[in-house]
Amino acid sequence: MSPVCHEDRALDLGDDHFHDACGVFAVWGHPDAARLTALGLHALQHRGQESAGIVSIEATRPLTAHAHRAMGLVQDAFTAATLAGLRGDVALGHVRYSTTGESHLRNAQPLLAAHQGQPLACAHNGNLTNTDALKRGLDAQGAVFQSSTDTEVFLHLAARARGDSALDRVIEALGACRGAWSVAFLAGRQLIAARDPHGLRPLCLGTLGRAHVVASEPVAFDLIGARYVRDLDPGEVLVIDADGARAYAPFEPVAPRFCVFEHVYFARPDSTLGGQSVYDARRAMGRALGREAPADADLVIGVPDSGVAAALGYAEASSLAFEVGLLRSRFVNRTFIEPVDAQRQFGVRMKLSPVAAALRGRRVVVVDDSIVRGTTARKLVAMLRDAGAREVHLRVASPPTRWPCFYGIDTPDRDELVAAHRAPAEVNALVGADSLGYLSLEGLRGAVNGQRGGFCDACFTGEYPVPFVPVGALTARTQHGLAPPVTRR
Ligand code: AMP
Ligand code: SF4
Repeated sequence: MSPVCHEDRALDLGDDHFHDACGVFAVWGHPDAARLTALGLHALQHRGQESAGIVSIEATRPLTAHAHRAMGLVQDAFTAATLAGLRGDVALGHVRYSTTGESHLRNAQPLLAAHQGQPLACAHNGNLTNTDALKRGLDAQGAVFQSSTDTEVFLHLAARARGDSALDRVIEALGACRGAWSVAFLAGRQLIAARDPHGLRPLCLGTLGRAHVVASEPVAFDLIGARYVRDLDPGEVLVIDADGARAYAPFEPVAPRFCVFEHVYFARPDSTLGGQSVYDARRAMGRALGREAPADADLVIGVPDSGVAAALGYAEASSLAFEVGLLRSRFVNRTFIEPVDAQRQFGVRMKLSPVAAALRGRRVVVVDDSIVRGTTARKLVAMLRDAGAREVHLRVASPPTRWPCFYGIDTPDRDELVAAHRAPAEVNALVGADSLGYLSLEGLRGAVNGQRGGFCDACFTGEYPVPFVPVGALTARTQHGLAPPVTRR
């Protein structure tokens, strides 16, 4: 008998691209699983504001899967009534961030299907690099796709895999996937969480009493009072069920390549990722920038939120006063999220307001985390001058962004990256600052303790750790029958 699946969804078959830089959160073994998941997603809201969703599993016979997905912010997507309907002690949630094309509810996650009489749900943060080849293969086998996200590929691959157990099938499916995947599945009442072998995107484990919790960033644990246990290892597959949590390492190990841009911009500064505080990393980037690109100025300001810690570091290294010269509206989403350029330019003005009292007549160093298209920087410089700044020296706490990301941080095509084919002086001519200085690659690597590798920095260097392959096959060491779990804390 099939599980019952309740869902609110609209089927919209418009086109979209495969870009997902998202947040994943899951709870196993707590009577309030869905409500805790909504709170966890709220803490991960910075990772995606396009849509939010939760799938819960109620331990009826057969199991009942409940799902609710909606466009917009977590607090708007879930009411007390919808959460009350998401019954069960196991829940998986997702916030999605996509800037390409139109947004569709059909691409909201977690995706939910039924397989062999059991619910099968999946939520993904990252981006596969062999989606097209995998989809072509699945299409040829008669797979019917209901969304245009690469996440659906996981479900089809797992459903077609030959392994006896759900865990075996998930491992086989993941073994075919290239690129970045921090992913969580609900297979029946089992929660299976995994990180790609390079560990490009974060994923960590926590506990709340006897319940287990999995989240993209540990800040999601803080909000619900859960205890951070550890990051999942690159290539780790973690299964959580009535027998507890067991870790497997089924893939051939490769060099770790954690996304350095998580530290630069994407993650919350109060998160600790890969053992390093994001706040400390940003502050160290700012200090290095202060040493590398000093400015003859009166004060330092940061572009809130992601530029503030780096601005503090810059002020520290340069012995200049740090002041609050920009305020950020709490009510506007990240400007990048608006797809139309005109909206984006307007969005900068809506998002940031200058504090004239701090700026008037002064020579200002303004620190931002990155320049992508250059829209924010151009508007910002003009705004600071309008507010009375005598000079504006723009400092960027990362190297020039010259290459697009294919691993789950949404960036525009290469030609839209303002620094792709321009020297810093040419970028500054467009931006209009009195001077422009970027952090060097060495400075960035030093700030994240990455001098000896361990990070992906392809958007700055063009050195992509995962190539684009036709039909990927990262062979799992166990096609039939699982290797014993690896010992983890
Ligand atoms: P732009 O205006 O296109 O140059 O974008 C740069 C601004 O967007 C900076 O202030 C960053 O804080 C922010 N930013 C950088 N990368 C991203 C990204 N992948 N998604 C959203 N915002 C970003
Ligand atoms: Fe992160 Fe840049 Fe690598 Fe993408 S290309 S994973 S944004 S470091």
